[in-house]
Amino acid sequence: MWKTVRVAFLLLILAGVALQTWLDRRATQGWQETLWVGIYPLDGDATPGAQRYVEGLKAADFTAIEEFVAREAHRYELPLERPVHVELYPPGRRLPPTLASDAGPLGIAWWSLKLRWFAWRATDVPGRAPPRIRLFVLFHDPSTLDRVPDSHGLQKGLVGVVHAFARADMAGSNNIVIAHELMHTLGASDKYDLGSGAPLYPIGFADPDRQPLYPQARAEIMAGRRALSEREFEMPASLREVIVGPGTALEIRWRHL
Ligand SMILES: [Zn+2]
Repeated sequence: MWKTVRVAFLLLILAGVALQTWLDRRATQGWQETLWVGIYPLDGDATPGAQRYVEGLKAADFTAIEEFVAREAHRYELPLERPVHVELYPPGRRLPPTLASDAGPLGIAWWSLKLRWFAWRATDVPGRAPPRIRLFVLFHDPSTLDRVPDSHGLQKGLVGVVHAFARADMAGSNNIVIAHELMHTLGASDKYDLGSGAPLYPIGFADPDRQPLYPQARAEIMAGRRALSEREFEMPASLREVIVGPGTALEIRWRHL
């Protein structure tokens, strides 16, 4: 008897999650109205530097993301003037669940469910409408580490965890990482070599027909880096030097075959 109840309850939850995923996809790929994207800044390493930086963040620090999406959407003739609105929420206290680097498929599935649960509970800000897409941005003091942990954006659950540097002169590259994870939540896939980080040719190149091919002036958002030569690549300083390539535009339904 109890077993039947438990199984029925679990199936009900899974059906609810599946239904929500379907509704989310319809809402985020229809491009009928402005999508609300919430940024939830967090002190990622409990250092005074990161905490000060997080407390000093302003909405204007993230408008470049909104402008980037609008500029690129208009290039693909999307008839929506403002495809996304980026809203900054007050800093949170609790950190999202972490994904172990050696997690297998089951571990990843479990982590993504925990993250959706966390996002659902952590983003209730009194007096503020909840966004459709939730991005937790964990800021780290750059003096404590050379490289931040990997960031993640999930289409299922419309949630992202972004690791960024708590330094004003890195705000431009932080916004590239945030925009990249935002694109993942919208259905875009990576366009770089997961081993080396090199942009994939041609889909990860902003200008694959350029003669000569190198150096590329801009980066494709899902490659994140522009190729300077066959073996060298770098992240641009800001989203002004980043574009949405035709492959990504197809995945996020800005283009149709
Ligand atoms: Zn990615």
